[in-house]
Amino acid sequence: MKSADLTKDDFVICLPCPLGTEPAMPDNVFGVCALCECRIQYRPHVPDAPTKLCKDCALDNMTVGQKVALTEETVAEIRRMQN
Ligand SMILES: [Zn+2]
Repeated sequence: MKSADLTKDDFVICLPCPLGTEPAMPDNVFGVCALCECRIQYRPHVPDAPTKLCKDCALDNMTVGQKVALTEETVAEIRRMQN
């Protein structure tokens, strides 16, 4: 899924990044979980539109049949990290 295809009805699962901890990748950007308002981190190419949730809220609120998407950019980054 391209980043541009994501809308506010989609959500992105984000890693928490409490103050004082290092981000998982140095260029990650920070935001706030839409449900619990904890500090989260995500890749800079994730668009503003989709709802961003920390992984705990995402797991607690997912329903059967809901889709979880990785953007093409994130998949490419993961592939590069493995090579
Ligand atoms: Zn949360």
